[in-house]
Amino acid sequence: MEKIINIAIDGPSGSGKSTLAKAVAKHYGFIYVDTGALYRTVGLYIQRKGIEPTDKAAIVEALDGLDIGMRLVDGGGVVFLDGKPVGDEIRTPKSSMYASHVSAIPEVRAYLLDLQRDIARKNSTVMDGRDIGTVILPNAHVKLYLVANDEIRAKRRYAELLEKGQKVTEAEVLSDMRQRDSNDSSREVAPAVAAEDAVYLDNGALTPEETLDRAREIIDGALADAKI
Ligand code: C5P
Repeated sequence: MEKIINIAIDGPSGSGKSTLAKAVAKHYGFIYVDTGALYRTVGLYIQRKGIEPTDKAAIVEALDGLDIGMRLVDGGGVVFLDGKPVGDEIRTPKSSMYASHVSAIPEVRAYLLDLQRDIARKNSTVMDGRDIGTVILPNAHVKLYLVANDEIRAKRRYAELLEKGQKVTEAEVLSDMRQRDSNDSSREVAPAVAAEDAVYLDNGALTPEETLDRAREIIDGALADAKI
């Protein structure tokens, strides 16, 4: 059987993780898994149930009725809620905030842990998130930690949201992003930090193509060192 390879890409919001992870997955022929989509979907479920994002007890109780899964569609993991694929409704600023709140709850993280590990055990994957290299796949063959300064990240996120027709200002995006970064990195469980053995990649001044080239050098080097 072919060896299963796992690549972890972590970093703050807007650092270009999903763009890079998709390109890396395409290049190596691996499955792309966007773990943020899982937390966003839990957030959407909580939002639909009319539960406040800060009501931890109600959120934990609601996990019993949560029907979430990931299926492989066209080389990528698509999140399903109640048997239906989720789309752009998880990409609104409101969903981002819900995701950030629910993701700080240990029971939510525990709920999603096996689902993520299962996919990586069965498939060569490029998984992006916040705790992939530290918690989900501590034995990943390559760990990248993507960074860029927050104003650059906010500009990128703003352009994405505009393209999706959402009404936001760049200042709102920057302030939401700082709030979310602070929640994500200061939470007690699985804080968004780089793994000790992660390679930092600052792509603030790089195009997506240049970021992919740099990532490929790092990945090819690591796989060659591991004689894979
Ligand atoms: O990556 P994305 O911005 O889509 O993630 C949405 C939110 O989900 C993040 O702000 C973070 O709070 C949470 N998240 C997480 N752990 C992951 C991926 C995302 O806590 N592995």
